[in-house]
Amino acid sequence: MTRIRTSHVGSLPKPAWLAAPEQLRAPWRLEGAALREGQDDAVALWLAEQARAGLDIVTDGEVRRRHYIWGFLEAVAKVDFEQQAMRPMRGGRYAAQSAAPRIMSALEWQGPVLAEALAFARARSALPVKVTLPGPMTTADSVVDTAGRRDDEAFAMAFAEILNREARALDAAGADVIQIDEPCFNVYTDEVARWGVAALERAFEGVRAKRAVHICYGYGTELVLAWKTKNTEWGHYAKTLPLLAGSSIQQVSVECAASGVDPAVLGVLKGKDVMVGVIDVGTEAVETPDAVARRIEHALAHVTAPNLIACTDCGMVPRSRAAAAGKLCALVEGARLVEGTAIRP
Ligand code: ZN
Repeated sequence: MTRIRTSHVGSLPKPAWLAAPEQLRAPWRLEGAALREGQDDAVALWLAEQARAGLDIVTDGEVRRRHYIWGFLEAVAKVDFEQQAMRPMRGGRYAAQSAAPRIMSALEWQGPVLAEALAFARARSALPVKVTLPGPMTTADSVVDTAGRRDDEAFAMAFAEILNREARALDAAGADVIQIDEPCFNVYTDEVARWGVAALERAFEGVRAKRAVHICYGYGTELVLAWKTKNTEWGHYAKTLPLLAGSSIQQVSVECAASGVDPAVLGVLKGKDVMVGVIDVGTEAVETPDAVARRIEHALAHVTAPNLIACTDCGMVPRSRAAAAGKLCALVEGARLVEGTAIRP
């Protein structure tokens, strides 16, 4: 049987010496040169863990970013993270209004933001490296544009221009995969059709690295888990995946382990790589390799083995280090079981 490739969405837990664990936006515990050294150490640690687990595509765990959106945004605009403003976010799924950082200047790409981080990871891993960027729609939904007063569509299109400069720089710096994170594609399905895919295409224009998009139902935090437990509507992919099927995107990351999504919906992505979420990132319990294998087998009814990349549902930054490391191992062991290259216990 064809080898089943494995990867994960992107973020991994920060070691406690770098930031308080199991929190989404924990402030740094170090500063200046010590912070830089601490981040380097955390990247080296996770690259070693990913290699030990046997993953095929690795990331730097996003441990240099305090938050996946904020950590990029602060390099391309003046952002007020202290005096936040209220706005509806994620379609009001979690609260009618949420606090959002304010954009206090024009967006400006002043040079590569993540290229140095990529070079560090590439120098320490022989494996293909994936770099992740916050998506135009999701970023627009997460900020208040105090300086430009643009609506979400206009902000997203302007942000896509910035992302394109960055994606081209990462491409030139040797990124194997560039992934744009768009959880909001699972919220605003009408807008995805109207301008979301167009913004994504703009961000990837001229990029030769593998073009990937990650679409999920949110991090495994308490707020999100409370919503997921009550949610009964899982039809979003049925609307967005057909739109992506006709796009230049080559890899699509989808949440299948913790959601109520029917993997039959993946069939429409024929010919593209599908990063199928077979690891639930909302629990500390580590899946057995057998449970992972069953989820992969379920997806194999709709995605061919060469196109299937066994993956996590979302980033694992809210998890403990032990749980995240365990889940990476279970992911790879599950894939080996499906291939028949491991003996079922
Ligand atoms: Zn996600």
